[in-house]
Amino acid sequence: MSPYDVQQLQVSCPDCRVFLDYFHHGVLPPNDANARKVVYQSERFILQDGILYHLGLPRQRKKSAGEPVSQQLMVLQALRPLILRSYHENLSHIGGHKMYGTIRRHYYWPLMYTDAHNWTKTCIECQTGAPPTKRQ
Ligand SMILES: [Zn+2]
Repeated sequence: MSPYDVQQLQVSCPDCRVFLDYFHHGVLPPNDANARKVVYQSERFILQDGILYHLGLPRQRKKSAGEPVSQQLMVLQALRPLILRSYHENLSHIGGHKMYGTIRRHYYWPLMYTDAHNWTKTCIECQTGAPPTKRQ
């Protein structure tokens, strides 16, 4: 996918759209509470070449002081199941917690942790214990 495609696709995703509207046009959701949420959360997002990224902070702040924050691509809704499936299957049906840890190195979306857990719960191979199994 070219950066232009990613840019266009992000615009079509409501989760990305609120931040893009704010960054590009200074437009906030009409609802006060939602608007505050966007302003508050926007500190963790950056635009690079028109593409929205989330800044992942190190999990243990003290330990990793001085470490650069990781830049995670904000994943649009339509692509989330594809990423979950490919990570889960390529990592030999890894458990939700580890899967989340791996995905978050490159990607971000709201409720990613929950989605990763739910994905393993709905995976037929994981549920039936069919090989290959390498769960935590
Ligand atoms: Zn599985």
